[in-house]
Amino acid sequence: MRGSGSRFRGGAVLSKGTHVPRRTCLACRGTNDKRDLERHVLAEDGTLTPDPEKRLPGRGYYSCRAESCRSRLAGMAGKLKKRKRG
Ligand SMILES: [Zn+2]
Repeated sequence: MRGSGSRFRGGAVLSKGTHVPRRTCLACRGTNDKRDLERHVLAEDGTLTPDPEKRLPGRGYYSCRAESCRSRLAGMAGKLKKRKRG
């Protein structure tokens, strides 16, 4: 039970509500707050499916909400898809 008196809580990095995960827009390589980016999931057939709820399984790719970045990301989908095994 010892150690429950938290000595170090002043410098804690976690448990602050202010930290927002950052992600890179694949189209323009800009870094943004995760919530300011759109998540897309690469489907089996190589198309990017928008995932506004950020809950679809699979590899997620992020882009800005800007139309230019979204369409650019869509154009990159084919390259993102790895070659078939074998
Ligand atoms: Zn972008």
